[in-house]
Amino acid sequence: MTKVHNFSAGPAILPQEVIQSCIDALQNFENTDLSLIEVSHRSKEFVSVMGEACHLVKKIMKLGGDYEVIYLQGGASTQFLMTAMNLLEKKAAFTNTGTWAKKAIKEAKAFGNVDIVGSSEDKNFSYIPKDFDISDDYDYFHCTSNNTISGTQMQTFPECNVPLVCDMSSDIFSRELDFTQFDLIYAGAQKNMGPAGTTLVVIKKGLLGNVTRYIPTMLDYNTHISKDSMFNTPSVFAVYGCMQTLRWIDKQGLATIEKLNTQKADVLYNEIDNNDLFEGTTAVEDRSKMNITFVLKDDSRNEDFLSACADANISGIKGHRSVGGFRASIYNALGLDSVTALVNVIKAFK
Ligand SMILES: *Cc1c(COP(=O)(O)O)cnc(C)c1O
Repeated sequence: MTKVHNFSAGPAILPQEVIQSCIDALQNFENTDLSLIEVSHRSKEFVSVMGEACHLVKKIMKLGGDYEVIYLQGGASTQFLMTAMNLLEKKAAFTNTGTWAKKAIKEAKAFGNVDIVGSSEDKNFSYIPKDFDISDDYDYFHCTSNNTISGTQMQTFPECNVPLVCDMSSDIFSRELDFTQFDLIYAGAQKNMGPAGTTLVVIKKGLLGNVTRYIPTMLDYNTHISKDSMFNTPSVFAVYGCMQTLRWIDKQGLATIEKLNTQKADVLYNEIDNNDLFEGTTAVEDRSKMNITFVLKDDSRNEDFLSACADANISGIKGHRSVGGFRASIYNALGLDSVTALVNVIKAFK
């Protein structure tokens, strides 16, 4: 097999050893001589996978017994409505920082009042709004830590006296953070932690139970918490893949992972900034270290650049259809060698 440099935004690159473990488990899961995808989710082998997948999240995030960890289906997109259905009684505060935030806002509006306390829509979501006021009478504040499409990332989170809810789909486990500042974190697995098909939700105890509406069983966080994510059949393959990725993350530690992510982002932004033909599309101080967005100043040459990338076995560089240009997603599992390969193509492009 030729090495392809995988810059896909999601589903995205996973560590080779995680993929190998998944292949092994598909053939023979934990020496059962059965495949991972043909055994009961209530077998002791799979119950142990789920247990470890939850335990490692808390360990890596340095969270204590006051947090619950669950794995759900329906993607981060279902969390847009579940967070609101479970938490929104009267009004919530949101930041509008891009496509995903907008979708979260749309769903929340079905359950209560939504105030946009910060927005970067005026400049096509090219920056992170700051210094906004979150008064104490909101049920919660919702933000998106990393804007996968526009390529911006929150470097700090506002101090507020209301629960902090965060969509971390595209930068979860990419950096050290004080995770205890969050009351609810959710992330679709397929960007930075595993195969598509499961969504991680981390919830601080005591957060739930404050809304008066009926919450349908499957959409009630308490259902899944009380059954250890096994109320119904979980996405066994995806959870297994997450567990393997979490082992890989835990072995290195978030500090090491963050250091490499910073180095990769620096190398790429540096070339974009110093190359006359290209330019970045986001405010420098809000640049994402996960999704690096850039354009050719002369966009009539876009196809030439994409074919130069293809010739160098670089995949997944085309920007999201809503913004155009280019996007290099450099998630945890992408090596510096792949970033260097891209930088060499950018350098050679004349
Ligand atoms: C990809 C993405 C989503 C949507 O995830 P799904 O699992 O496909 O529903 C939501 N939020 C962010 C920030 C994303 O990057």
